[in-house]
Amino acid sequence: MTTSAQLFEQACRHIPGGVNSPVRAFKGMDRPPVFIERARGAYLFDVEGRRYIDYVGSWGPMITGHADPEVLAAVRERLDDGLSFGTPTAIETRMADLICEILPSIDLVRMVNSGTEATMSAIRLARGHTGRDKIVKFEGNYHGHSDSLLVKAGSGALTHGEPSSPGVPAALAEHTVTLPYNDLEAVEECFAKIGNEVACIIVEPVAGNMNCIPPVPGFLEGLRRVCNEYDSVLIFDEVMTGFRVALGGAQAHYGVSPDLTCLGKIVGGGMPVGAFGGKREIMSRISPLGPVYQAGTLAGNPLAMAAGIALLSKIREEGFHDALAQRVETLCNGLQERADAAGVPMITQRAGGMFGVFFTEQSQVENFAQATSCDAEAFRRFFSAMLDQGVYLAPSAFEAGFMSSAHTPEDIQATLDGAEAVFASMTR
Ligand code: PLP
Repeated sequence: MTTSAQLFEQACRHIPGGVNSPVRAFKGMDRPPVFIERARGAYLFDVEGRRYIDYVGSWGPMITGHADPEVLAAVRERLDDGLSFGTPTAIETRMADLICEILPSIDLVRMVNSGTEATMSAIRLARGHTGRDKIVKFEGNYHGHSDSLLVKAGSGALTHGEPSSPGVPAALAEHTVTLPYNDLEAVEECFAKIGNEVACIIVEPVAGNMNCIPPVPGFLEGLRRVCNEYDSVLIFDEVMTGFRVALGGAQAHYGVSPDLTCLGKIVGGGMPVGAFGGKREIMSRISPLGPVYQAGTLAGNPLAMAAGIALLSKIREEGFHDALAQRVETLCNGLQERADAAGVPMITQRAGGMFGVFFTEQSQVENFAQATSCDAEAFRRFFSAMLDQGVYLAPSAFEAGFMSSAHTPEDIQATLDGAEAVFASMTR
């Protein structure tokens, strides 16, 4: 049997760091990454035959669990018709109709191949629409790896200590203004100075790339007000939160309507898909309707659309998201009780189907500075020991956890039993 450690060594020969996306590398976790062979429901199975209860869900898409039979069937049904045509297809219209039905803030939507493409294109559109260059983002928010957005970013960029990447021209980074998350006063101050130069605010309406940080009351509403006042475009990056925090995403959950929304992850059902959409007036500036160019050879791919439509149709079922949020609550409360009982300083935060675990004495974590002041070594020990208990958490203290409808009460109980043992070992 080839072990994960051997496969990682082989992978490192021709793949930078052995991975095709940095956070998969388990860097800082003092052990090689686990190589997964297959997955089903709430479980991952590694190449050595071990089973893990998975709280990563391919970083978000697998909201009904892995290898969902309905999603697989939808892909299988289309497979023999061909992989890609580079022409319009009826299934793209079905996807667009579905997105616009679920998210009333979207009149027009364009499909792309990743969350990065969605945010990059939305930024270009906001700049083209307003004729302004500056953009405002928040410290520790991650919007993919396009140049304008890789400034003080979260996720793998933060995990690997490079929140602002070399390779991003200073002249471009200058146009990106980064403010503290959840700090409306800082936003108001910034706009009082340069508001008329700001094309857009882009925000994760629940921050999920510096662990899980919900917006404080009034923050999103305040961003809406400021954008209205200065004619700037409000972009919600719902690549992670879309269809997860609620069916209608964070915008439905918190009742704040953006001008543009970026989607990814769940919208593709596990296939490489992203989307951006919003107000007709703004979206009409996209090529071929308008002058702002954006395109994609494989955009709207029929297999990807089939997977996404099957998944979105499934999670529209009445009560789906309430049940998901209930599972997250059970997990978080259970972890809290056990950490408290063991005397491990830890808190949890959550929003709908996503959650975070912070090793800290703080009672709440609201921004990047607080997130990065948490105990990284305690997280590393927790992560590694949980993995040994058969629980797969994101290998970084700066990533949110994801629940799926495939997680049974028994899976949650097994996770809590594992955590109890791990907390006990952490105080020894
Ligand atoms: N935006 C957010 C909020 C994300 O969490 C991510 C990825 O995790 C992205 C954008 C980038 O998406 P992708 O990795 O599909 O390019």
